[in-house]
Amino acid sequence: MNFTQFPRRKYLQGATPIEPMENLSKALGGHVDLYVKRDDLLPGSAGGNKTRKLEFCFADALDKKADTVVTCGAVQSNHCRLTASWAVKENMDCHLVLEERVKGSYKPEGSGNNFLFELLGVKSIRVVPAGSDMMAEMEKTSAELKNTGKQPYIIPGGASNAIGALGYASCAQETMVQLNEMMLKVDGIVVPSGSAGTHAGMAVGMFAMNTNIPVFGINVSRKKDVQEEIVYKLAGELRAKLGVKTEIPRDQITCFDEYVGPGYSLPTEDMIEAVKLFASTESILLDPVYSGKAAAGLIDLVRKGFFPKGSRVLFLHTGGSPALYAYLDTFRA
Ligand SMILES: *Cc1c(COP(=O)(O)O)cnc(C)c1O
Repeated sequence: MNFTQFPRRKYLQGATPIEPMENLSKALGGHVDLYVKRDDLLPGSAGGNKTRKLEFCFADALDKKADTVVTCGAVQSNHCRLTASWAVKENMDCHLVLEERVKGSYKPEGSGNNFLFELLGVKSIRVVPAGSDMMAEMEKTSAELKNTGKQPYIIPGGASNAIGALGYASCAQETMVQLNEMMLKVDGIVVPSGSAGTHAGMAVGMFAMNTNIPVFGINVSRKKDVQEEIVYKLAGELRAKLGVKTEIPRDQITCFDEYVGPGYSLPTEDMIEAVKLFASTESILLDPVYSGKAAAGLIDLVRKGFFPKGSRVLFLHTGGSPALYAYLDTFRA
């Protein structure tokens, strides 16, 4: 895969670490060796996966002479926080459209990422009800900005178009270089599957390099079949963009929807246990919405014996810990 054919900003300082999670592996019975790729430690305020995608999105925006970015997300969106963060560094304005997926969940004085939007100086926040056409809403904001003489660029939710997903195909390449250097043979990679750029990027990257390492997505909102179709469609667009000759087989896209619970961003017992277990065994902070539910999936799959005895499994930690502070009651209850 050749990433030099695309405009790209350089936000990464180098590869994020791959670490063994010996304490957690032992706590889960010791049948599977768990490793973690620390994308929670990526640059950009408070870290997390969107920085890899934004390297490509901001480069495209600058190529198109934009001076302003418009993006969208949920009320505690890490993606909105990181877009605001890189907009600061690029001297661009940032405008947000937030979807109130859970009624009454937006609080202007809210903690977590909500507070960070403010601190990072976003120019405007517009809250729209659940189920709104977010692209249409962003276009509305964009049209208003154009009327004031600005040059806005729309970054889709989660930066999950083929441009943003390049960041995770590149992550797959980075991961493979590390695994080869470490002489570490992993049998599977577990990732959260949300707006799908992370999952699609890792799946396409691992496939394009003929690694034979399966990538398993843990859903955070949708049903299995719906999410798999979304990931598969984006994987197809990404493959074409990268010029990967062979189409990725449909059966290489696998999602689990058993860990979503009552819905997006709504706490589950498994998520609370996973967040507490990662903190108490590995000193790693997860988040309640994405990495906590993905880790709940990882833990359950290990306990159920989904991975054969002696397997090595790599968990992609996508970040999100600022959202913990918006959920204090959940963890203290
Ligand atoms: C956005 C996000 C994800 C999901 O990644 P997608 O590419 O949207 O599927 C996972 N974890 C965290 C912390 C995120 O912010």
